[in-house]
Amino acid sequence: MKIDVLTLFPDMFAGVFGSSILGKAADKGIVELNAINFRTYSTSKHGTVDDTPYGGGGGMVLKPDPIFAAVEDRVSDEAVKPRIILMCPQGETFTQKKAEELSQEQHLIFICGHYEGYDERIREHLVTDELSIGDYVLTGGEIPAMTVVDSVVRLLPGVLGNENSAVTDSFSTGLLEYPHYTRPAEFRGMKVPDVLLSGHHANVEKWRREQSLLRTLQRRPDLLEQAELTETERRWLALQNKRSETEQS
Ligand code: SAM
Repeated sequence: MKIDVLTLFPDMFAGVFGSSILGKAADKGIVELNAINFRTYSTSKHGTVDDTPYGGGGGMVLKPDPIFAAVEDRVSDEAVKPRIILMCPQGETFTQKKAEELSQEQHLIFICGHYEGYDERIREHLVTDELSIGDYVLTGGEIPAMTVVDSVVRLLPGVLGNENSAVTDSFSTGLLEYPHYTRPAEFRGMKVPDVLLSGHHANVEKWRREQSLLRTLQRRPDLLEQAELTETERRWLALQNKRSETEQS
């Protein structure tokens, strides 16, 4: 996969793209990660990329020409057109499902905004997706783009040591993940559940599934509406729900 990030602050990406799992994925050739300063595509003498908004008001607006030129330069004669993703708080909220969808692509181009916003023609005529990482506003699109890139790259085959770890992650299964424990078996009087020490794989799997269901019920009941559950699991959850309601009353 190739990932190009168009930004005014490419230095911000050196640490994230060069370290840890992303750095290793790039070293192994699984992904090519490029942070490109779109100021270099400005045709003005001073490298201007923004201007005041038509109609007045505060803040500066990113001009269309450097961003269109930067994107066009990154798009070659690829058989499959790249996804061109605008980072903006008004976009579709990013989810694990979207990460899975983007991980199937060959080429992603991210556009990171700054200042007040973008010229609307970028949104209307250039991009294929608009993504937000949540209902809050950051100073720029760099941290949001890093968030999306990280979650996409870790899904690429060969990136995670244990391929299963992405499969059982929260949201991948439609549920929150079960709790984890490691040595020591007892720490300051706090014990690891016996079942995990039993060596009985079927019981461990059953416990993990129940914990996953329970945790989702307690923390994110909205996810259960879409989750793939058996009839037995639905009945079990209804029972747990009733129990907790009785305990609270
Ligand atoms: N005036 C804009 C608005 O109200 O929608 C906010 C602009 S924000 C200060 C500057 C840039 O940061 C945005 O263009 C976008 O690239 C990025 N940004 C800020 N918050 C974001 C979020 N929640 N998700 C994705 N990108 C965000």
